[in-house]
Amino acid sequence: MTTSKPLLSVVSPVYEEEAVLPQFHRVLSEVLDGLADEYDAEIILVDDGSRDGTLPLLRRLAQDDPRVRYCSFSRNFGHQAAITAGLERARGDVIVTLDSDLQHPPSLIPALLEKWKDGADVVVTLREDHASAGVVKRLSSRLFFHLMRLLSEREVRDAASDYQLLSRKALDGLLRLGETHRYLRGMVNWLGFPTAAVSFRVAPREVGASKFTFGRLSGFAVDALLSFSKIPLRLPFFLGVAVILVGLGYGVWGLAQTVLTHGPWEPGWIVLLATVHVIGGSILCSVSLVGEYVGRIYEQVKGRPLYLLKESSYDPDAEAMRRGRDQASAA
Ligand code: UDP
Ligand code: MG
Repeated sequence: MTTSKPLLSVVSPVYEEEAVLPQFHRVLSEVLDGLADEYDAEIILVDDGSRDGTLPLLRRLAQDDPRVRYCSFSRNFGHQAAITAGLERARGDVIVTLDSDLQHPPSLIPALLEKWKDGADVVVTLREDHASAGVVKRLSSRLFFHLMRLLSEREVRDAASDYQLLSRKALDGLLRLGETHRYLRGMVNWLGFPTAAVSFRVAPREVGASKFTFGRLSGFAVDALLSFSKIPLRLPFFLGVAVILVGLGYGVWGLAQTVLTHGPWEPGWIVLLATVHVIGGSILCSVSLVGEYVGRIYEQVKGRPLYLLKESSYDPDAEAMRRGRDQASAA
């Protein structure tokens, strides 16, 4: 093994994929063999608590192929946790994450590496066509990205997938984000490093079934929306203002009627409506105010770094970046 070649880490979550895993390993190995002149490689497979024959298969793969390393969860913790565990264990100079069900074609890896060589720290992949997915999945995915774009404070790309490349620098940054509810695509986007994109066609799942039921997907979408947007916290405020305005409208109307007709203060129900609206609206506004504080506590608890460096000529910075990397690789 020459030391001059960069190390490529391929990270893949595996959950009950015994049917497709050998084929995945074969296809991926062919791609890595093709890159062997330029890159050393390691394959990190994370078993997300499978109850089928996945784990014995992983043991066998690790025995037969020195590039393969694996770890196995005590139970199913979800695929974002599995990718995270793999990323924490990756030692590479450049890291690629992809699904182990062959829906993310390994043949795309050389194209991702080209973009990395051109200077991108992050290369995302965009799903060009996923007609193979069901109608409900496609519609909900479109709705999700629409909402995300509406609510997120950062630009969101449509149809981004968890098939992506990270430079060592980007991965070190990502590993400093210790939040529990993880939406990795958003977190990678938050890093802000120079990003390139490659499109690909999602292959239909040939073996096994998708592990994402509608319920699981919606939970994931809620995680994504709530961890990247403070807008939901502010909604009660706008609603509250609208309700107060309605209340004031009733008040003005009642007053105008009294003045114009010079009559007695008859329409007591208008006063009642105005009062109810103003009180209700004020409560909504107060809820939003509490929400602002909760939002701040949430930001603080997430403990994301205040900034990430792209480069620096200042020595202690270089030292800190190196330390961050050592910590990340020790994890
Ligand atoms: N996966 C996982 N844990 C889970 C569910 C899925 O590690 O709880 C893995 C799975 O083995 C696959 C990837 O995550 O490699 C994507 O899962 P799946 O193909 O079921 O999702 P879909 O492609 O239908 O969105
Ligand atoms: Mg899949």
